[in-house]
Amino acid sequence: MAEKKTQTPKAAAPKKAAPQAKPAAPKKAETPVAKPAPKAAAPKKPAPQPKVEKKVEAPVIEKKVEAPVVEKKVEVKPEVKVVAKEETPAIRKNEKMKVLFVAGEANPFIKTGGLADVAGSLPKALVEKGIDARVMIPLYLGIPQEMKNNMQYIGHCFVQLSWRSQYCGVFSYIYQGVTYYFIDNEFYFKRHGVYGHYDDGERFAFFSKAILESLKIIDFKPDIIHANDWHTALVPVFLDCFYRGDEYCKNAQTVYTIHNIEFQGQYGDGLIEDILGLNYDQSQLVRYAGCVNYMKGGIESAARVTTVSPSYANEILDPYYGYGMQDILNARKYKLSGIINGIDEEKNNPMTDQSLFKNYDINSLENKKFNKVGLQQLLGLPVKEEVPLIGMVGRLTHQKGIDLVTAVMDRILDMDVQLVILGTGDWKYENILKDMQNRYPGKLRAIINFSSDMASKIYAASDMFLMPSKFEPCGLSQMIAMRYASVPIVRLTGGLKDTVQAYDHVTGEGDGFTFLTYNASDMLYAIERAVGLYRDYKEDWNKVVHNGMKKDFSWSTIANQYIELYKSI
Ligand code: ADP
Repeated sequence: MAEKKTQTPKAAAPKKAAPQAKPAAPKKAETPVAKPAPKAAAPKKPAPQPKVEKKVEAPVIEKKVEAPVVEKKVEVKPEVKVVAKEETPAIRKNEKMKVLFVAGEANPFIKTGGLADVAGSLPKALVEKGIDARVMIPLYLGIPQEMKNNMQYIGHCFVQLSWRSQYCGVFSYIYQGVTYYFIDNEFYFKRHGVYGHYDDGERFAFFSKAILESLKIIDFKPDIIHANDWHTALVPVFLDCFYRGDEYCKNAQTVYTIHNIEFQGQYGDGLIEDILGLNYDQSQLVRYAGCVNYMKGGIESAARVTTVSPSYANEILDPYYGYGMQDILNARKYKLSGIINGIDEEKNNPMTDQSLFKNYDINSLENKKFNKVGLQQLLGLPVKEEVPLIGMVGRLTHQKGIDLVTAVMDRILDMDVQLVILGTGDWKYENILKDMQNRYPGKLRAIINFSSDMASKIYAASDMFLMPSKFEPCGLSQMIAMRYASVPIVRLTGGLKDTVQAYDHVTGEGDGFTFLTYNASDMLYAIERAVGLYRDYKEDWNKVVHNGMKKDFSWSTIANQYIELYKSI
């Protein structure tokens, strides 16, 4: 730990010195004399300086009256400001704060999960609040060609990865007022699929270094670099190890957000010298449990570590949720916090969503039923308006609680319900679900696909949305479901705990159905309670639906919390 501190103090030192210099400077003439840095201003000011000294030493009243004292004072001030401009982050000067948000994916360019939603929404919300927020992602093959056609080439450089020197092109594209930058290297990114390649460790080490290297190409000096997940966890590491002398990022502070602690970027330690180019001391930042761990590097190096819900921030301190990172996080608890994600309320709006059979909002809820009927017809399910339709949209992995659903599938489908599942993921879950679909042709549809269009149709058609996650850092699907008037049935974990309030039959409060233990019977009981209310207490059911629809999940509110965090560094 001590070694790490010796590498990183540069971040802390200039911060504290700069604000102290500011208030002291305007009072006396000594301060400008002591700062020869602003060369441009220097030749103009030698004359006033000696006069000011005289004023201090010999307080002759007559002279004061005669001398153009006012002029002198006016001239001294700008000189101080010039110095401050170079050394003080914009945040402290109340200028437009500059934030570079870096991620492995961003909506609408490329998406595999919730990270893309955040990268597509948070920067936009920050820009709307007057922050100069920009985003940087790799230029993947999978980005739609029509978007690529409209990108602008800005420049290129070469990125040193140990002994390699790799080409790095930079393109830009402005979308909804936000400038997105794309790092181009065909060797690393002109491939099918976003993640999951044999050399992901090298690909994202390249991307992380390319981010810092390309700041001079885009001519951007960020106050904050906000890195996300393991893909960009090396950015704060490389910044401290290699770029603290670089004029484009010497003052940059770093925030590192964990969207899912399960994926840490773990590789054999051969990468340290061969790809990362770190020396022995520097390598301590990323070494963990006998291998290289990118996420650990991000946690160690960043000024602040956040995760995507307060509950998850607490949970990952525990071995059950921490995936081996709990000790590191407990040691760095002082800089860890949780900020819940929002959803893009423009994009996820049942009133305007083009994928729906019929649009609706809280005042025209009677139109929701056309979406149920439309989906039933589309999927070949019996068209029954009164039968509760349960939807699921998400990755088919152990995280999402598919084990619980398959364990009691027979019991669920014993009820008079229909279940529609959309997802891709582990082949074992894909196969089990396909098999079960064959056994329950009139009740179950498993769509093994990634389709935003189908996702929207399911959110709109379903009465209930099942999300029995084993762990859930934040979860966006339950929020989207509520907005589409689909009542969430969730396990109380992470972000689900922070966004879904259990329905209370006595007070009428609440917007969902919940269970606590990761247990199939408990989940089944929650589904039964939801189905019971839907069937027998229509008025109460409508109240639950309304409660969910009225909830504020806008990024606008959440962006303020990030701004506060940025300012606190
Ligand atoms: P995670 O990030 O863990 O995958 P989230 O709930 O945070 O889960 O975000 C998932 C996002 O991806 C939601 O917007 C959801 O609608 C979308 N999504 C997940 N699976 C699919 C799929 N198969 N097709 C379309 N959209 C999907």
